[in-house]
Amino acid sequence: MRIGMGYDVHRLVEGRKLVLGGVTIPFDKGLLGHSDADVLVHAVCDALLGAAGLGDIGLHFPDTDPEYKDVSSIKILAKTYELISGKGFTIMNLDSTIFAYAPKLSPYRDAMQKNIARAIEIEPDRVNVKATTFEGLGMIGKGEGIGAMCVALID
Ligand code: MG
Repeated sequence: MRIGMGYDVHRLVEGRKLVLGGVTIPFDKGLLGHSDADVLVHAVCDALLGAAGLGDIGLHFPDTDPEYKDVSSIKILAKTYELISGKGFTIMNLDSTIFAYAPKLSPYRDAMQKNIARAIEIEPDRVNVKATTFEGLGMIGKGEGIGAMCVALID
């Protein structure tokens, strides 16, 4: 068994779609990034790569690569899963937390869990997504960005 952790933050800006866990969420701002900037899925990728000792998302999917411009991060996660399974690892479970002052994320939790689980070929009940608001404190509490953290266990 091996454990890995992933952490990511992206800036919230106007004129971008908000995508979290592969779900497009109605909101007046979205996350800025080279891909769709799905901060939750990026944290999941980093947790998996970390557990497998395979570096990080920037190493395998550089934000200078035109192939990943505006791409769904779920595709990056599926490619991450290929790397993990190619090394002979099985994913046991993921636990994650999104840090966002708004919007309310609980209505999208099941869909996020299913999207992530499908990309890495495990049951949705092995993928847990939580959310917290930072209670108005700091850059996340003030809505300047959204962050996510994930822990992954692989065997
Ligand atoms: Mg990122």
